[in-house]
Amino acid sequence: MITIKEYVAPVSLEEAYKILMSGKTNLILGGFGFIKMGSRAVNKAIDLCNLSLDYITETTDEILIGAETSLRTLEINEIIRNYCGGAISEGVSNIVGVQFRNMAKVGASVFSRYGFSDLLPSLLVLDAKVRLYKGGIMDLEEFLEKDFERDILVEVILPKKKGMAVYDCIRKSTGDFPIINGAIFRGEDGQYKIAIGSRPQRAKLAVKAAKALEDGENIETVVDIIPEELHFGTNVRGSKEYREDMSKALVSRMYCKVGA
Ligand SMILES: Cc1cc2nc3c(=O)[nH]c(=O)nc-3n(C[C@H](O)[C@H](O)[C@H](O)COP(=O)(O)OP(=O)(O)OC[C@H]3O[C@@H](n4cnc5c(N)ncnc54)[C@H](O)[C@@H]3O)c2cc1C
Repeated sequence: MITIKEYVAPVSLEEAYKILMSGKTNLILGGFGFIKMGSRAVNKAIDLCNLSLDYITETTDEILIGAETSLRTLEINEIIRNYCGGAISEGVSNIVGVQFRNMAKVGASVFSRYGFSDLLPSLLVLDAKVRLYKGGIMDLEEFLEKDFERDILVEVILPKKKGMAVYDCIRKSTGDFPIINGAIFRGEDGQYKIAIGSRPQRAKLAVKAAKALEDGENIETVVDIIPEELHFGTNVRGSKEYREDMSKALVSRMYCKVGA
Protein backbone atom coordinates (compact mmCIF):
# COMPACT_ATOMS: atom_id res chain seq x y z
CA MET A 1 0.00 0.00 0.00
CA ILE A 2 1.11 3.55 -0.62
CA THR A 3 0.51 6.26 1.96
CA ILE A 4 0.96 10.00 1.42
CA LYS A 5 1.28 12.32 4.39
CA GLU A 6 0.97 15.62 2.54
CA TYR A 7 -0.05 16.66 -0.98
CA VAL A 8 1.61 19.84 -2.28
CA ALA A 9 1.18 21.73 -5.57
CA PRO A 10 4.03 24.27 -5.81
CA VAL A 11 3.81 27.29 -8.10
CA SER A 12 7.39 27.28 -9.36
CA LEU A 13 9.95 24.68 -10.37
CA GLU A 14 12.34 26.13 -7.83
CA GLU A 15 9.84 25.52 -5.04
CA ALA A 16 9.07 22.01 -6.32
CA TYR A 17 12.76 21.12 -6.38
CA LYS A 18 13.32 22.55 -2.89
CA ILE A 19 10.47 20.46 -1.49
CA LEU A 20 11.72 17.36 -3.34
CA MET A 21 15.19 17.70 -1.87
CA SER A 22 13.97 18.56 1.62
CA GLY A 23 13.18 14.93 2.46
CA LYS A 24 14.20 11.47 1.22
CA THR A 25 10.61 10.25 1.04
CA ASN A 26 9.28 13.26 -0.88
CA LEU A 27 8.48 12.54 -4.51
CA ILE A 28 7.19 14.11 -7.71
CA LEU A 29 3.78 12.92 -8.88
CA GLY A 30 3.19 12.11 -12.52
CA GLY A 31 -0.13 10.51 -13.36
CA PHE A 32 0.32 8.21 -10.31
CA GLY A 33 -0.03 5.07 -12.47
CA PHE A 34 3.24 3.44 -11.50
CA ILE A 35 3.69 4.87 -8.00
CA LYS A 36 0.43 3.35 -6.83
CA MET A 37 1.60 -0.14 -7.86
CA GLY A 38 4.29 0.01 -5.18
CA SER A 39 4.35 0.02 -1.43
CA ARG A 40 5.94 2.96 0.34
CA ALA A 41 5.33 5.77 2.78
CA VAL A 42 5.57 9.15 1.03
CA ASN A 43 6.01 12.27 3.10
CA LYS A 44 5.27 15.00 0.53
CA ALA A 45 3.75 14.16 -2.86
CA ILE A 46 4.60 17.02 -5.20
CA ASP A 47 2.10 17.71 -7.98
CA LEU A 48 3.48 19.73 -10.92
CA CYS A 49 -0.04 20.68 -12.08
CA ASN A 50 0.45 24.44 -11.45
CA LEU A 51 3.62 24.73 -13.52
CA SER A 52 2.12 24.83 -17.05
CA LEU A 53 4.14 21.82 -18.18
CA ASP A 54 1.34 20.29 -20.27
CA TYR A 55 2.30 21.38 -23.78
CA ILE A 56 3.63 20.34 -27.16
CA THR A 57 5.03 23.31 -29.06
CA GLU A 58 7.48 23.81 -31.90
CA THR A 59 10.15 26.32 -32.80
CA THR A 60 12.02 26.52 -36.10
CA ASP A 61 14.42 23.75 -35.09
CA GLU A 62 12.78 21.84 -32.25
CA ILE A 63 9.64 20.28 -30.82
CA LEU A 64 9.19 20.75 -27.07
CA ILE A 65 7.13 18.33 -24.97
CA GLY A 66 6.32 19.37 -21.40
CA ALA A 67 6.70 16.85 -18.59
CA GLU A 68 3.00 16.95 -17.70
CA THR A 69 1.89 16.02 -21.21
CA SER A 70 -0.06 12.76 -21.17
CA LEU A 71 0.94 9.74 -23.24
CA ARG A 72 -2.44 9.97 -24.95
CA THR A 73 -1.69 13.53 -26.08
CA LEU A 74 1.64 12.28 -27.43
CA GLU A 75 -0.26 9.63 -29.35
CA ILE A 76 -2.82 11.90 -31.01
CA ASN A 77 -1.07 15.28 -31.27
CA GLU A 78 -0.70 16.33 -34.93
CA ILE A 79 2.85 17.67 -34.50
CA ILE A 80 4.04 14.36 -33.04
CA ARG A 81 2.06 12.23 -35.48
CA ASN A 82 3.59 14.09 -38.42
CA TYR A 83 7.10 14.06 -36.99
CA CYS A 84 9.37 11.58 -38.82
CA GLY A 85 6.58 9.17 -39.68
CA GLY A 86 4.88 9.19 -36.28
CA ALA A 87 7.07 6.56 -34.57
CA ILE A 88 6.61 8.18 -31.14
CA SER A 89 2.81 8.10 -31.43
CA GLU A 90 2.92 4.51 -32.64
CA GLY A 91 5.14 3.44 -29.74
CA VAL A 92 3.00 4.88 -26.96
CA SER A 93 -0.23 3.63 -28.56
CA ASN A 94 0.80 0.15 -27.33
CA ILE A 95 0.74 1.12 -23.65
CA VAL A 96 -2.12 -0.48 -21.68
CA GLY A 97 -5.26 1.38 -22.88
CA VAL A 98 -6.59 4.84 -23.68
CA GLN A 99 -7.78 5.60 -20.14
CA PHE A 100 -4.35 4.75 -18.77
CA ARG A 101 -2.57 6.81 -21.43
CA ASN A 102 -4.81 9.77 -20.60
CA MET A 103 -3.33 9.73 -17.11
CA ALA A 104 0.31 8.64 -17.49
CA LYS A 105 2.74 11.50 -18.09
CA VAL A 106 5.74 11.96 -20.39
CA GLY A 107 8.01 13.37 -17.65
CA ALA A 108 7.43 10.38 -15.37
CA SER A 109 7.82 7.90 -18.23
CA VAL A 110 11.15 9.31 -19.41
CA PHE A 111 12.63 10.14 -16.00
CA SER A 112 11.88 6.62 -14.73
CA ARG A 113 13.91 5.07 -17.58
CA TYR A 114 11.88 1.85 -17.52
CA GLY A 115 13.53 -1.04 -19.37
CA PHE A 116 10.16 -1.92 -20.91
CA SER A 117 9.47 1.63 -22.14
CA ASP A 118 7.67 1.91 -25.47
CA LEU A 119 8.63 5.57 -25.63
CA LEU A 120 12.40 5.52 -25.15
CA PRO A 121 13.44 3.60 -28.33
CA SER A 122 11.76 6.15 -30.62
CA LEU A 123 13.09 9.10 -28.62
CA LEU A 124 16.60 7.63 -28.79
CA VAL A 125 16.71 7.21 -32.57
CA LEU A 126 15.34 10.73 -32.96
CA ASP A 127 18.20 12.24 -30.91
CA ALA A 128 15.91 13.54 -28.15
CA LYS A 129 17.28 15.61 -25.30
CA VAL A 130 15.89 16.06 -21.81
CA ARG A 131 15.75 19.26 -19.80
CA LEU A 132 16.20 18.59 -16.10
CA TYR A 133 15.61 21.33 -13.55
CA LYS A 134 19.00 20.88 -11.87
CA GLY A 135 20.91 18.83 -14.43
CA GLY A 136 20.10 21.11 -17.38
CA ILE A 137 19.82 19.93 -20.97
CA MET A 138 21.47 16.66 -21.93
CA ASP A 139 21.16 14.03 -24.64
CA LEU A 140 18.66 11.34 -23.73
CA GLU A 141 21.35 8.77 -24.57
CA GLU A 142 23.61 10.27 -21.88
CA PHE A 143 20.74 10.55 -19.40
CA LEU A 144 19.92 6.85 -19.82
CA GLU A 145 23.52 5.86 -19.05
CA LYS A 146 23.91 8.12 -16.01
CA ASP A 147 23.59 6.99 -12.41
CA PHE A 148 20.26 7.96 -10.87
CA GLU A 149 20.12 11.46 -9.38
CA ARG A 150 17.01 13.06 -7.92
CA ASP A 151 15.81 15.87 -10.17
CA ILE A 152 12.73 17.08 -12.03
CA LEU A 153 12.31 16.36 -15.71
CA VAL A 154 10.92 19.57 -17.19
CA GLU A 155 10.63 18.78 -20.90
CA VAL A 156 11.72 16.55 -23.75
CA ILE A 157 13.32 18.28 -26.72
CA LEU A 158 13.17 16.80 -30.22
CA PRO A 159 15.36 18.19 -32.99
CA LYS A 160 13.48 18.63 -36.26
CA LYS A 161 15.15 15.83 -38.16
CA LYS A 162 14.55 15.07 -41.80
CA GLY A 163 13.80 11.42 -42.30
CA MET A 164 11.57 8.56 -41.34
CA ALA A 165 11.38 6.56 -38.10
CA VAL A 166 9.58 3.33 -37.33
CA TYR A 167 8.74 1.75 -33.96
CA ASP A 168 7.94 -1.93 -33.53
CA CYS A 169 7.60 -4.45 -30.72
CA ILE A 170 6.88 -8.05 -29.88
CA ARG A 171 4.39 -8.65 -27.03
CA LYS A 172 2.41 -11.69 -26.02
CA SER A 173 -0.85 -9.77 -26.07
CA THR A 174 -2.14 -6.24 -26.51
CA GLY A 175 -1.68 -4.19 -23.36
CA ASP A 176 0.99 -6.49 -21.94
CA PHE A 177 4.57 -5.31 -21.36
CA PRO A 178 6.75 -5.76 -24.47
CA ILE A 179 9.08 -8.78 -24.71
CA ILE A 180 11.32 -6.69 -26.92
CA ASN A 181 10.84 -3.40 -28.74
CA GLY A 182 12.81 -0.99 -30.84
CA ALA A 183 12.95 1.83 -33.33
CA ILE A 184 14.90 2.67 -36.45
CA PHE A 185 15.51 6.05 -38.08
CA ARG A 186 16.58 6.59 -41.67
CA GLY A 187 17.67 10.14 -42.43
CA GLU A 188 17.32 11.76 -45.82
CA ASP A 189 21.12 12.07 -45.78
CA GLY A 190 21.53 8.29 -45.40
CA GLN A 191 22.05 8.33 -41.62
CA TYR A 192 20.69 5.34 -39.68
CA LYS A 193 19.92 4.96 -35.98
CA ILE A 194 18.72 1.75 -34.35
CA ALA A 195 17.57 1.39 -30.73
CA ILE A 196 16.48 -1.78 -28.97
CA GLY A 197 14.58 -1.75 -25.68
CA SER A 198 13.09 -4.30 -23.28
CA ARG A 199 16.33 -6.30 -23.53
CA PRO A 200 14.99 -6.41 -20.71
CA GLN A 201 17.31 -3.56 -19.77
CA ARG A 202 16.46 -0.07 -20.93
CA ALA A 203 16.70 0.97 -24.56
CA LYS A 204 20.13 1.43 -26.08
CA LEU A 205 21.45 2.47 -29.47
CA ALA A 206 23.02 -0.21 -31.67
CA VAL A 207 25.74 2.03 -33.06
CA LYS A 208 27.77 -0.58 -34.97
CA ALA A 209 24.72 -2.05 -36.69
CA ALA A 210 23.55 1.41 -37.76
CA LYS A 211 27.02 2.22 -39.10
CA ALA A 212 27.01 -1.03 -41.10
CA LEU A 213 23.72 0.00 -42.72
CA GLU A 214 25.19 3.40 -43.59
CA ASP A 215 28.18 1.60 -45.12
CA GLY A 216 25.83 -0.34 -47.38
CA GLU A 217 25.96 -3.75 -45.66
CA ASN A 218 22.93 -5.89 -46.40
CA ILE A 219 20.31 -6.27 -43.68
CA GLU A 220 20.97 -10.03 -43.20
CA THR A 221 24.54 -9.20 -42.12
CA VAL A 222 23.52 -6.17 -40.08
CA VAL A 223 21.00 -8.01 -37.89
CA ASP A 224 23.73 -10.45 -36.78
CA ILE A 225 25.63 -7.51 -35.30
CA ILE A 226 22.75 -6.62 -32.93
CA PRO A 227 23.17 -9.50 -30.39
CA GLU A 228 26.96 -9.10 -30.58
CA GLU A 229 26.73 -5.40 -29.81
CA LEU A 230 23.91 -5.24 -27.26
CA HIS A 231 23.45 -7.26 -24.11
CA PHE A 232 20.22 -9.24 -23.75
CA GLY A 233 18.90 -10.95 -20.65
CA THR A 234 16.19 -13.22 -19.31
CA ASN A 235 13.07 -12.31 -17.33
CA VAL A 236 9.54 -13.69 -16.97
CA ARG A 237 8.61 -12.45 -20.44
CA GLY A 238 11.41 -14.02 -22.44
CA SER A 239 14.82 -15.64 -22.36
CA LYS A 240 18.09 -14.06 -23.43
CA GLU A 241 18.29 -16.44 -26.42
CA TYR A 242 14.73 -15.67 -27.51
CA ARG A 243 15.37 -11.93 -27.30
CA GLU A 244 18.62 -12.28 -29.27
CA ASP A 245 16.76 -14.07 -32.07
CA MET A 246 13.81 -11.71 -31.96
CA SER A 247 16.07 -8.65 -32.08
CA LYS A 248 17.13 -9.78 -35.55
CA ALA A 249 13.54 -10.28 -36.70
CA LEU A 250 12.51 -6.94 -35.23
CA VAL A 251 15.29 -4.98 -36.91
CA SER A 252 14.64 -6.69 -40.28
CA ARG A 253 10.97 -5.83 -39.98
CA MET A 254 11.62 -2.21 -39.04
CA TYR A 255 14.20 -1.87 -41.82
CA CYS A 256 11.60 -2.95 -44.40
CA LYS A 257 9.01 -0.58 -42.93
CA VAL A 258 11.35 2.40 -42.86
CA GLY A 259 11.39 2.24 -46.63
CA ALA A 260 14.97 1.18 -47.14
C1 LIG B 1 0.18 -1.69 -15.17
C2 LIG B 1 1.15 -0.85 -15.97
C3 LIG B 1 1.53 -1.29 -17.23
C4 LIG B 1 2.43 -0.53 -17.97
N1 LIG B 1 2.81 -0.97 -19.21
C5 LIG B 1 3.68 -0.23 -19.94
C6 LIG B 1 4.07 -0.66 -21.25
O1 LIG B 1 3.68 -1.71 -21.75
N2 LIG B 1 4.94 0.13 -21.93
C7 LIG B 1 5.42 1.31 -21.41
O2 LIG B 1 6.18 1.99 -22.07
N3 LIG B 1 5.05 1.73 -20.19
C8 LIG B 1 4.21 0.99 -19.45
N4 LIG B 1 3.87 1.41 -18.20
C9 LIG B 1 4.49 2.64 -17.67
C10 LIG B 1 3.64 3.86 -18.01
O3 LIG B 1 3.63 4.07 -19.39
C11 LIG B 1 4.20 5.13 -17.34
O4 LIG B 1 5.49 5.36 -17.83
C12 LIG B 1 4.26 5.00 -15.84
O5 LIG B 1 2.99 4.68 -15.34
C13 LIG B 1 4.76 6.31 -15.21
O6 LIG B 1 3.90 7.34 -15.55
P1 LIG B 1 2.94 8.02 -14.47
O7 LIG B 1 2.53 9.32 -15.05
O8 LIG B 1 1.91 7.07 -14.05
O9 LIG B 1 4.00 8.30 -13.29
P2 LIG B 1 3.94 8.13 -11.72
O10 LIG B 1 3.53 6.76 -11.33
O11 LIG B 1 3.19 9.26 -11.12
O12 LIG B 1 5.50 8.37 -11.40
C14 LIG B 1 6.48 7.42 -11.75
C15 LIG B 1 7.84 7.90 -11.24
O13 LIG B 1 8.26 9.07 -11.93
C16 LIG B 1 8.58 10.13 -11.01
N5 LIG B 1 8.22 11.38 -11.69
C17 LIG B 1 7.01 11.74 -12.15
N6 LIG B 1 7.08 12.89 -12.84
C18 LIG B 1 8.39 13.28 -12.79
C19 LIG B 1 9.11 14.39 -13.33
N7 LIG B 1 8.53 15.33 -14.09
N8 LIG B 1 10.43 14.47 -13.06
C20 LIG B 1 11.05 13.52 -12.31
N9 LIG B 1 10.42 12.45 -11.79
C21 LIG B 1 9.11 12.32 -12.04
C22 LIG B 1 7.75 9.82 -9.78
O14 LIG B 1 8.31 10.41 -8.63
C23 LIG B 1 7.83 8.29 -9.76
O15 LIG B 1 9.05 7.88 -9.19
C24 LIG B 1 2.97 0.69 -17.44
C25 LIG B 1 2.57 1.11 -16.17
C26 LIG B 1 1.67 0.37 -15.44
C27 LIG B 1 1.25 0.87 -14.08
